[in-house]
Parts: sequence; C-alpha cells; structure tokens
Amino acid sequence: MGPVAGLRGGSRPEAAVLRGLRAARGAALASFAFATWRASVSAMDYELDPSERAWRDEVRAFISEHVDDALADETRQRGNEGRGPRAQRFLEALKERGWWGLAWPPEYGGLGKTAVEQWIFIDEIESAGAPMLPLTVTSVAPTIMRVGSEEQKRAWLPRIQEGEIEFALGYSEAEAGTDLASLRTRAELEGDHWVLNGHKMWNTMAHTATHNWLAVRTEPDAPKHKGISIMIVPMDAPGVSVQPIWVWPGLRTNALFLDNVRVPRNHLIGERGMGFYYAAMALNFERLAIGSVGMARRHFRALVEEVRTRVVDGRPLRDEPWVRDRLARLQVDIEAASMLGLETAWALDRGGVPAAESSMAKIFVSELSQRIADAGCEILGLDGQLHPEEPRALAGGRMQWLYRLSPMLAFGGGTNEVQRDIIGFMGYGLPRK
Ligand SMILES: Cc1cc2nc3c(=O)[nH]c(=O)nc-3n(C[C@H](O)[C@H](O)[C@H](O)COP(=O)(O)OP(=O)(O)OC[C@H]3O[C@@H](n4cnc5c(N)ncnc54)[C@H](O)[C@@H]3O)c2cc1C
Repeated sequence: MGPVAGLRGGSRPEAAVLRGLRAARGAALASFAFATWRASVSAMDYELDPSERAWRDEVRAFISEHVDDALADETRQRGNEGRGPRAQRFLEALKERGWWGLAWPPEYGGLGKTAVEQWIFIDEIESAGAPMLPLTVTSVAPTIMRVGSEEQKRAWLPRIQEGEIEFALGYSEAEAGTDLASLRTRAELEGDHWVLNGHKMWNTMAHTATHNWLAVRTEPDAPKHKGISIMIVPMDAPGVSVQPIWVWPGLRTNALFLDNVRVPRNHLIGERGMGFYYAAMALNFERLAIGSVGMARRHFRALVEEVRTRVVDGRPLRDEPWVRDRLARLQVDIEAASMLGLETAWALDRGGVPAAESSMAKIFVSELSQRIADAGCEILGLDGQLHPEEPRALAGGRMQWLYRLSPMLAFGGGTNEVQRDIIGFMGYGLPRK
C-alpha cells in the first residue's frame, strides 16, 4: 500500500511536517499538524500492494495448515492458564518459520517486517482464533533492543528467542494504574544487588511466567516520573509470591508480593530512572495488536453463520429486517476499524507518531466488540447467551464470551477515557486538563 499515484514519491514528508509542528508544541500548530496529517492520510491508497498481498497469502496458507477449531477452542479454554499442547505446537511452527521475530530488526535475527506487514499478520492470526505471539517477544524484547546495554541484550535476547523465558508485565499497583508514575514498589541498592519490596496488582501471567518485567521506584527523591526503573525479576527468586485474582470472563490475573527480593544489579534494564518512559515504549510496541479488529471479525463471522441458518418461531433470522440492518451496520464498522488499524500502521511505516490514530483504532475496536456481543445476544436470544461449553449454545457460545471479555478490551492497553484525552491533546492540541 502507499500514497495514490499523484503523491507517490512526492517530496513532502508528512511525518516530518507533523513531528516538526508537534515540536513547536503550540496548540494551534499541533492542531494544524493533525489536520495536515489527516489530509495526507486521506490520500492513502488502502489497497495492499503486490508484496503485501503475497505476504497476506503466505500467512493465510500457514494458518490453513496449522490452525483448526480444536486449536481455537483450546486457546479460549486455557485463557491465562498457560499454553496447551496445540498452542505450543502452533508457536513452535511459527518459530520454525522464522516468524517469532517477525518485527525484530535483522541484526537481532528478525525479519524486520514493516508495520503494515505486522498488521496483516496480527489481523489474520486473530481472525483465525490462533494464539498471538507472546508480549515477551512483541513488547519486552524490542524494548531491550532499544534501551538495554550490550551485555543485557546478549543475556536476554537469545533466551527470549529460544522461548526459554517468558515475562509477566508488572506495571500497575493498587494506587497506580492510569497514573503509573505514582507506583510505590521500591528497589534499593545493597552492594551488587537490588532489594525489592512492594505489591503489584493485575500481574497477569505471573503464575505461568518465568520472569517479571517490573516497574519499580529506585529514585525516591526524584520527581515521580523520573524515579522509576525497569527491573527483571525471576519468578523463583526467594520472597516473590503470587495470589490469584479471577475476573469476569473467568480469566485469571494476579496480585504479586515482593518481600526483600534480591536481584543482581545488572537486572535493571537500561538507565536508572528511565522506567516510566521504557514502560510507555513497551506499550507502544503493542499498539498494532491492541487496535486489531481480527478477533471482532471472527466473532462476527460466527454470528452471521448462525443467522444464515437459524429459524426462530418459524421465521428464518436471515429474513428479519432488523437483524439484517444490525449486521450491515456492524459490517460497516468492521471495515472502518480495519481502515483505522491500517492507517496507524501506514503512518508508523512513514516515521509518523500516530498516537491519535492508534487511540482511535483502540477505542473503536474495543467498543465495536461490545456492539457485536450486544447484537449477538439480542439476535440469537437465550441460546445465544449460553457458555461455549453448553451443547445448545448458538454461534459456539461466542457471543456471551465476547460480552464478558469486551469490557477488558476497553481498559487493556490504557483506558478508553484516557485514549479520548490523547486524541484531544495529541490530535487537536487541546489542553491536557
Ligand atoms: C484483567 C486485568 C488484567 C490486567 N493485566 C495487567 C498486566 O498484566 N500488567 C499490568 O501492569 N497491569 C494490568 N492491568 C491493569 C490495567 O492496566 C489497569 O487496570 C488500567 O491501567 C487502569 O488502571 P486502574 O485499574 O488503576 O484504574 P484507574 O486508573 O484508577 O482508573 C479508574 C477510572 O478513571 C478513569 N481515569 C483515570 N485517570 C483518568 C484521566 N487522567 N482522565 C480521564 N479518565 C481517567 C479511567 O479511565 C477509569 O475509567 C490489568 C487489569 C485487569 C483488570
């Protein structure tokens, strides 16, 4: 994909214009920058180019060979309880294909795929219901590549590449979610070791991970954003304990307790006091996946399949005008969500900082998932609201599963309220408060 013919190879580097204007920081200028950017994006050709189409076909062929309903069911059933044997085989196949480091630069053994190619991959994998590449590979590893010392890269990256270690991400605390800079878990240097004490909340996967990627306060006297560092903590270190927390869709997350946990000094990644910014960087690497509409599309497909054949009170659902209308509206939204995701990827590939665009994609997709679940529960009636394990469940029980899951999508990766704020100040130059 690329700019339409008239603009292809044009001399105006939109992203540079945007960056330059943002640097000026004036509200009016930022607003103008966004308008400029949007104007340039509207010149985008949404058609994939031949090499992107070939890549999509390759991914689809891989999926048709390696993904079936049993894998998708196992992925759903396991939730956050670690990988089942099918998922493990699937991820091994991804690794053998060299797709583990899909987005990693070639100098680290990756394929250096563009953001659009990554977006295609994520969309196809999610649409098939297959397990996604772990955040260890897509978020932690790229952050280590950017900010870690050479010694840290040599120590951690090969082990991540081998699949030998997997991280839980420990940013949030009871009083520090959106306001991450308020976190209180502290690490104090004693000789060659950091000694950690504190309590993390919502430490998903801590019970299956080998290591934790923790944001901790190392500089108590610095301004709160500048006093945080990122530290790697092995889960089997003495003093680490995990307590389960079960949330609405039946998924497990955890509270994590650190009681005089000692880790070697070189487990602090990158520079002291830069952890807040590294956490933001790690989250940025997740952006494409967070705004992906693949999963919503998959559930929508199941709903449409059910509507094609289901007869209620002697009337086929497919003949009901309100049902057709509802499905048509959702289909339009799915296409729109797809375009938003593609725009974000396209902007990234041109060196842009598409913060407002990625926030738009994230809000739209998460709220669309809720709309699909609402529509599905209403259209399919009570049997459409049964659990996937119930034999009578319509559409494979996907509607109630999505209904329970989608609120999490609205705050995962940053709450939608905050995303709306980002669109306001990054997109339109409105004041932050
Ligand atoms: C199931 C689950 C899994 C999770 N997994 C992880 C994980 O693995 N690792 C991890 O570190 N964290 C994880 N989290 C934490 C998640 O990232 C936080 O819940 C999220 O960042 C919101 O923080 P909070 O819960 O403290 O809510 P708060 O920050 O207290 O927000 C409460 C409400 O106030 C709104 N609000 C807050 N500040 C603003 C503002 N400035 N402007 C407008 N509105 C605002 C929010 O949008 C929200 O609606 C998980 C949470 C859950 C529930």
